[in-house]
Amino acid sequence: MPSEIAGPDERRPPPSAPVDAAAPAQSWQRELGILDSGRPGPTVLVLAGIHGNEPAGVEAVVRVLARLRELALPERGRVVALAGNLGALAQGKRFLGRDLNRGWGAASIAAMQQRLGAERLPEDDEQTALLDRFEAVLRSATGPVVFVDLHTSSADGPPFLCLADTIDNRRLGLATGVPIILGIEELIDGAALEWFGARGVCALAVEGGRHLHPDTRGNHEALLWLLLVRIGLVPAARVDPAPHRAHLARAIGAAPPIVEITHRHAIVAADAFRMAPGFVNFAPVAKGALLAHDVRGEIRATGPSLVLLPLYQALGDDGYFLARPVRRFWLHLAQWLRAARLGGLLRFLPGVRRDPDDADTLLVDRAVARWFVVEVFHLLGYRRERPRGAQLAFTRRRSRPENRTL
Ligand SMILES: [Zn+2]
Repeated sequence: MPSEIAGPDERRPPPSAPVDAAAPAQSWQRELGILDSGRPGPTVLVLAGIHGNEPAGVEAVVRVLARLRELALPERGRVVALAGNLGALAQGKRFLGRDLNRGWGAASIAAMQQRLGAERLPEDDEQTALLDRFEAVLRSATGPVVFVDLHTSSADGPPFLCLADTIDNRRLGLATGVPIILGIEELIDGAALEWFGARGVCALAVEGGRHLHPDTRGNHEALLWLLLVRIGLVPAARVDPAPHRAHLARAIGAAPPIVEITHRHAIVAADAFRMAPGFVNFAPVAKGALLAHDVRGEIRATGPSLVLLPLYQALGDDGYFLARPVRRFWLHLAQWLRAARLGGLLRFLPGVRRDPDDADTLLVDRAVARWFVVEVFHLLGYRRERPRGAQLAFTRRRSRPENRTL
C-alpha cells in the first residue's frame, strides 16, 4: 500500500526533478529466502532495502528466488537474501533514526553495541540483527562469498555498480557489463560494503535506477541473474543470460564502463541543500555549470565532470558526487603491473615509503608524489586513507584466496 511521506524534514523538490517522495511501504521478514543446494560452493548474499525507500531491490530478489525455486536451483552453493531496514521499509522511508548504510566500521559497531535504553536508535537493532546474519553466513561458507547490496537512487539514469577496486571485485563487476564506480567507499564512512571488504569478501553495491521507475526492479533482476550464472550457482544451460545482458545493455546506453569519484558534496540539514533540477546519473557538466543551491548561494562545478547520485529526496547526507571516466591507459597499465606482480615496487618510487607499523600501508609524501598517485594506487589495489599531515596513506586491499575462483 502506498504511504504518503510528508514529515517536517521533507524539502520541497524542484518542480522538474524526478521525485519519488513516497515509496510503497510493505512489511518484510528479515530472511527473504535461503536457497541452499546442499552441495559446497559459492555463497551469494543479497541485501536489499538497507534504505527503506528503496523497495525495488527487495521485490527483485523475491522474484528471482521464486524463479530459482521453480527451477530447483542453485545447483551448488547457496543464495541467502536478507531485507535491510525492516522498520524503514514498513514506512517507505530511507531510515527512521540514522542511515543504516553507515556505521559498519569497527569503531562505530563497538559504539553502537554500547548504546543502551533511550540512546538506542531503531537502526541499532536492525544492524545488530544483520551483523548476526552476516557473521553466520561467513562462518558457514563452503566457498567464496559474494555480497550484493541492492540500492536505487532519487535521480533517473542507467544502473551502475559501486565497488572497492580489488582485482576480484573488478573482474566480477566487469563481467556484468554494468558501469563501475570506483572510489566511493573512500568517501562514505562505513557503508555495509566496507564490512565485507574488510573481511576480504567480494562486495558490490548495485544502483538499479530511480526508486520507483518501472524498469528499476527489472534492472536488479537482470543483474542478479548475470551474477548467479557468472559465479556458477546457475548453469547458463538452465538460465540463458543473453536476454538479461540485452536488458541491461538497453538500460546502460552510452554510460562509460568505469568512472572514478573525484568529489563528494557532503551536506547537513542546516545547508538547506537543493540540487538544481534535471540531473540524471552520469550527466556530463562543464566547468562553471550550476549544480545546486544552499544557504551560501550557488554551487558550481569546478571542472568538467560527470554527476552521480544527485539528491532529489529529503533524507541523505550526500548532495551529489562528481566523477571522471578512468582512462583506458591506466586500466591496461594496472592490469599489466598486477599480472607482473610489480605492485610491490611502488615503495621504491620517490616520496613513497612503507608504514613502519603496517606492512600493507604505504605513506606517500604529497610534495613529491603528485597527480599520478591516486590513480596508480587505486588501480594497484590500494585504498586511500585519511591524510596524515603532509602524507597520504594507501592501504592494500587483501582478498580471500577462494575469491580467485570467482
Ligand atoms: Zn540506497
